[in-house]
Amino acid sequence: MEKKSDPSHLDVVAFARDGASLEGQLPLTALQRLHDEQVAGGLQAGLVGWRLEGRLVPLSGDADQIWLNLQASVALPMQCQRCLTPVLVTVATVRSFRFVADEATAAALDDEAEEDILVVSRDFDALALVEDELILSLPLVPLHEVCPQALPMSAADPEFETAAVKPNPFGVLAGFKTGKS
Ligand SMILES: [Zn+2]
Repeated sequence: MEKKSDPSHLDVVAFARDGASLEGQLPLTALQRLHDEQVAGGLQAGLVGWRLEGRLVPLSGDADQIWLNLQASVALPMQCQRCLTPVLVTVATVRSFRFVADEATAAALDDEAEEDILVVSRDFDALALVEDELILSLPLVPLHEVCPQALPMSAADPEFETAAVKPNPFGVLAGFKTGKS
């Protein structure tokens, strides 16, 4: 596959120069670290949707800046921290990254620049970046908007407890009869 159109081996320079864009969908199993964040329990994760756009920002008297816009989202089963049952959380991210020539430039800019700085590459794994950004966007406290009705629990239901503890008179009688014969 041509590197300009392979999101796992992206030629960032050519991608930005051409103002190219790519989008697609991945099964969650393709992003193992993100996959590990979901909880089991009946809810099905959605596909991971992603979109990349390259662009050059011209600078007077200097080389053009290389930028990559990233959007991604996935519906991920997580554990609701209120009712502790699974909740399908939509995790989404929209970010822009500026690419610079080398690590030293990136380190120098990291403190002062407001945007995220990455080192330019002609073999860049943009899907790993998608995965990183989605993991960073996971909610710290996933919650249902409205929690599902709690199931009646025996321990919390005084009537249930009484019924369970109270011996059934017919059962006792039956046992008595059996023991006697
Ligand atoms: Zn809940």
